[in-house]
Amino acid sequence: MKSPEIITGRQALERLLRGNQRFARGVSRHPRHDPDRRKSLDRSQEPFAAILACADSRVPPEVIFDQGLGDIFAARVAGNILNDQVLGSLEYAACHLDVPLIMVLAHTNCGAVKAVADGTELQGHIASLAPAIRPAVERARGMEGDLTDNAAREVARMTAGQLAASEPLLAPLAREGRLTITAAFYHLDSGRVELLS
Ligand SMILES: [Zn+2]
Repeated sequence: MKSPEIITGRQALERLLRGNQRFARGVSRHPRHDPDRRKSLDRSQEPFAAILACADSRVPPEVIFDQGLGDIFAARVAGNILNDQVLGSLEYAACHLDVPLIMVLAHTNCGAVKAVADGTELQGHIASLAPAIRPAVERARGMEGDLTDNAAREVARMTAGQLAASEPLLAPLAREGRLTITAAFYHLDSGRVELLS
């Protein structure tokens, strides 16, 4: 169940960041993993945040934000890009589960972004990831620092922007201040999440 104090996107974000600080410091509490919690969620869910994260095995949202069952509505796809099915999933979280926050979470050393940045020939359906990533890579060229990481940050920013402008469901919620949409960047080495917007 949602904690009573969770009402705004800002508060949801603070809760995530507090959990991430615990995780990064190695003092995770692993809250709400127990059988009672599991049973209490049998018929309903009230997550306090939705996260669009990369499918990468090193970026599980519940772990890096030290949250429990029923806390985070997670949509995961390589490169944390948007497609219709991911957008529909996030619309469901915002409109039917009333999450006040959607976070788009990119990360360092993202294989999907690196493949596009390197111009690697992508086989099969892996190639379907590239069109959404390529504009971010182009934007990141010429920036100081690591191209892959800069491009991954741009993917998160661009995806968050697409969500905020998405009609007919998410844009009105964002305009009315009922939905916070934020981009963030996870550092695989330190375990810390950096806010981008
Ligand atoms: Zn990735």
